[in-house]
Order: sequence, then structure tokens, then C-alpha cells
Amino acid sequence: MVAVKRTLPAPPELQGRWASLLEEAGLRPEILALADRFPEHRSLEVPFSVIDAADTGLADLLLERPEEVIDAGRRAMRELLPVAGPEADSLRLRPVGLPPTAHRTVRAIREADLNHFIAVDGIVRRVTEVRPQIRDAVFQCLVCHVEFHEPQDDASMVFREPLECPDSQGGCGRPAGRTRFRLLPEKSSYVDAQRIEIQENPESLRRGAHPQGLATLLTEDLAGHVLPGNRVILNGVVKSYQRGTASRGGVVRNTTFDLLLQGVSVESQQVEYEDIEITPADEQLILGFRGDPTVIDKIVLSLAPTIRGMEQEKEAIALQLFGGIEKRHSDGIRVRGDIHALIVGDPGTAKSQLL
Ligand SMILES: [Zn+2]
Repeated sequence: MVAVKRTLPAPPELQGRWASLLEEAGLRPEILALADRFPEHRSLEVPFSVIDAADTGLADLLLERPEEVIDAGRRAMRELLPVAGPEADSLRLRPVGLPPTAHRTVRAIREADLNHFIAVDGIVRRVTEVRPQIRDAVFQCLVCHVEFHEPQDDASMVFREPLECPDSQGGCGRPAGRTRFRLLPEKSSYVDAQRIEIQENPESLRRGAHPQGLATLLTEDLAGHVLPGNRVILNGVVKSYQRGTASRGGVVRNTTFDLLLQGVSVESQQVEYEDIEITPADEQLILGFRGDPTVIDKIVLSLAPTIRGMEQEKEAIALQLFGGIEKRHSDGIRVRGDIHALIVGDPGTAKSQLL
């Protein structure tokens, strides 16, 4: 069976549609402001509703063919700049607020979602350090000494080596067997990259089900901003990659594929502490608790009031939420202020709800 694909308009047409959309939605000033604040800021977040309101067809294509459509939008942004400085190529278009039809739980992602633009709600479980990842590898042919580019695929875990010395880039055309190639790390280009794993929200799970995780790749300015425990909506393109094992003479590929979400934008689902507004009335109320000997009981009772009992567990969680104070003893020993809590219990005893 052959899947019916909506034909994609030619790239110039897509770019033209984006250009009028960005103008119509009044986003030109934001793009100009981005260029001024580069490189700290380089991404324009555009709500899906704005795209949908201006050009429904483009919005549909964005969900089905995100890579080409976002790339065209990026080129349209670049055209809106009065002078193309070094920042022009680094501006990013990051659609946010995908419609409910594009939301998936981790366990509901299917083959039909491959290469589509989806939104996944979850909790960040693991993050790796932000590391440079090679995006454009430059090699030199050891026979003709021509240097050429071998672009890399962000989502794949495997380093792509040249198969021949490409005559399209001025090389001698010899296949890999008749010459050798040397990687030139200082001429190659890199991006910041971070792998994170998100896990399904506990409240969306059926009782007793084990939460599933999804690996996600965050690059450029998306890398380094989420922490384990953050609740996020990750918008990205579903990729599959073949697990490979490096060996002499190439890569041995397995027959199973893993899924990877290539991050396009990240939306935080939690209120940041600095976003909480404390009114003078709140402040009076908080100060009123000072010196109240029953304040711990009040806090414990206000935690998950629909779950009865479990005061000890609630107290432990409350203490963990507030955290401790780092202590330094006179002998130089440091005692960390973080409190960790381990909650163990039978299934269905409200552990997840409490957390
Ligand atoms: Zn060559």
C-alpha cells in the first residue's frame, strides 16, 4: 500500500507564504529585535494558532512536513532582515502551541507519526550535559588533497563518513577503497546538543502501568534549559534511527529502530518561582504564619487534601519541597542542603498522586 502524501509546494512558494504570514501577523519587529539581541536570542516562537489563522494550508503542511516547512519559514525570516549579518543563518523559527490533534502520549507514538510534527507532554527524567555535536564534517582526500564537506544527520547516532571523494566538490572521484580521508576537526562545524529523556505524566497512566520514556534531542539554543523533574511540552519531529554498532570497515546495523524526537520547541508547563506574584496581602498572610507553632501541620494538611491520612509521608514531601540549608563545618566538611525522599509502597496507594 502506498501512503498518499500531500504534495509539497515548491520551496520558493512556501517561503513566499511564510513571508506574507510573518508580515500579516505583525512579526517583523520581533524578528528585527531578535537580530539585535543575537546571539543570546535567536529564536522566534510562533503560536500554531497564528499560523493557522493566516494560512490553514501552511499550518497543515507544517504538521505533515515540518522540516521543509520550518526551513522555508527560516529563509523567509532571513529575507525580512534589512542586512544579512552573521546572525541571518542562525535565526530559528520555533512553532509552539500545537493543536490537540498533534498531541501524543509517549506510548501512542506510531509509525504513522514518523517525520511528522507532534507535541508530547511529559516530565523530564534525564538530561545529558550539553556537548558540541558535529553537524558539518570537513574531510580531506589523501590522494588529491581536496577538502570537502560531509553534512551529518543530527538525529542519527552514527558518524557519517564519505563513500567517495566527491567530484561535485572538486575532488578526484575516487571511492573510499582507493583513497583515504582525514577528518579536519578545526574546519568542521558543530552545534550545542543535549539528549534528554521525557517520561509520561504519572496522572495520564492507567493504574499499575509503567511510564514509558522517549529520547529527545535538543540542539542550539534549546540545549541546556530543562532540568530533571520539569514538566514540559516538547514539540518536535519524530525520527527513527537504526541502532548501529561501530566496527572495522563501517557500521553494523541492527534491524530494530529506535524513536527519537528531534526537538523544535519546548514549552514549560510549570509556573516559575519568579513568575509567581506575591501581593502585599499575600505577604501579610505569609508573615502571619511566622512563629505559628502549628505551621508544619497546616502545610502538611494543605498538601493533596483529597488524599486522607499519610501525614508522615506528606511531611517528608513538604520538607523536601522546602529543602534544607547547606552547612559547612569547621573541619571543612560540607553537608548538602538538598533533601531526597524515597517513597515505597504497594501499588495503588496514592504515591504518584502525592508526588
Ligand atoms: Zn580525492
